Amino acid sequence: MLQEVLSQIECRRRFVLTSHCRPDGDAIGSVLACGAVLRAMGKEAEVVMRDAVPGMYRTLPFAGAVIQAPYVPEGYEAAIILECDSLQRTALAGWDGRFLINIDHHYSGRPFAHVNWIDPSACATAELVFRLARQAGAPVSAEIATCLYTAILTDTGAFGYTGTNANTFALARELVLAGADPARVAQQVYFSNPAPKMRLLGAALSRLHHDGPLAWMYVTRDDMERYGAIDEDCEGLANWALSISGVEVAVFFRELACRRQWRASLRSKGAINVAEIAQRFGGGGHICASGCALPGPLSVAAERVLAQLRMGNTRFLM
Ligand code: 5GP
Repeated sequence: MLQEVLSQIECRRRFVLTSHCRPDGDAIGSVLACGAVLRAMGKEAEVVMRDAVPGMYRTLPFAGAVIQAPYVPEGYEAAIILECDSLQRTALAGWDGRFLINIDHHYSGRPFAHVNWIDPSACATAELVFRLARQAGAPVSAEIATCLYTAILTDTGAFGYTGTNANTFALARELVLAGADPARVAQQVYFSNPAPKMRLLGAALSRLHHDGPLAWMYVTRDDMERYGAIDEDCEGLANWALSISGVEVAVFFRELACRRQWRASLRSKGAINVAEIAQRFGGGGHICASGCALPGPLSVAAERVLAQLRMGNTRFLM
């Protein structure tokens, strides 16, 4: 499928690239790197995203050129959609009549495009972008390597999630040799948290529920307003609940701006497939990290998710 993706790129000139709404490190790193790879191949490539680049990724190379829009502008020969298991995940309008190339590594990945390269064995979509660059013979500059390394670092939970293996480190090595600076990236990703995010974490931890292998916590919109936190400050908070000894699966709930919906971030240490749980509620993701949105109130939303987890009708992997 890599060769098919490359052939479809080679016969076109103008590309628009995008990734999912509320982008994480793999979404941003992959889309920025892929745009640069295409430009290195002599193509025109612009990145259009529904949501702004989160603050922690704004220092990445090419991040300043991202166009934030609610729809896909006209004038491109093809669109490359990275790290999305459906077109809806882009939250962009205006896809009708476009030639679509889908590059993804989600467990919940679906062949929604004309060309679909979905490889759940890849540690991040960034790994697929790296393979694309190699196959195309495009040089991996220090800037591209920095974007890809950031994506891989964040999507493997700092090389800690199930699925991290020798290939992950071989890839990281290639990227460091190409110019990615591991200490600088880690500093930016893990040691540059805004203070409101830490206060929000405090609020969430103060409401931690811990029931055997299950832990969950939540933040309300009022919490976010009280601490001056924004949506992107919720990224990574779920891992704190999962970090408890003996906990196998954790859920972090946050109230959305409309105050009628709650977003659930599910995290697993590997025994429970949380992608399947999220899919039951219209979401998706990976075996160990997934998300979905549910109508409130919180008591109802939380009980629906927690009941699925408690029922034990998930696919046990270990
Ligand atoms: P997070 O909990 O950090 O928002 O997301 C964890 C993983 O689940 C990411 O890979 C993300 O792309 C995926 N994910 C989160 N929310 C949704 C959703 O509503 N739909 C789908 N399809 N995937 C989601």
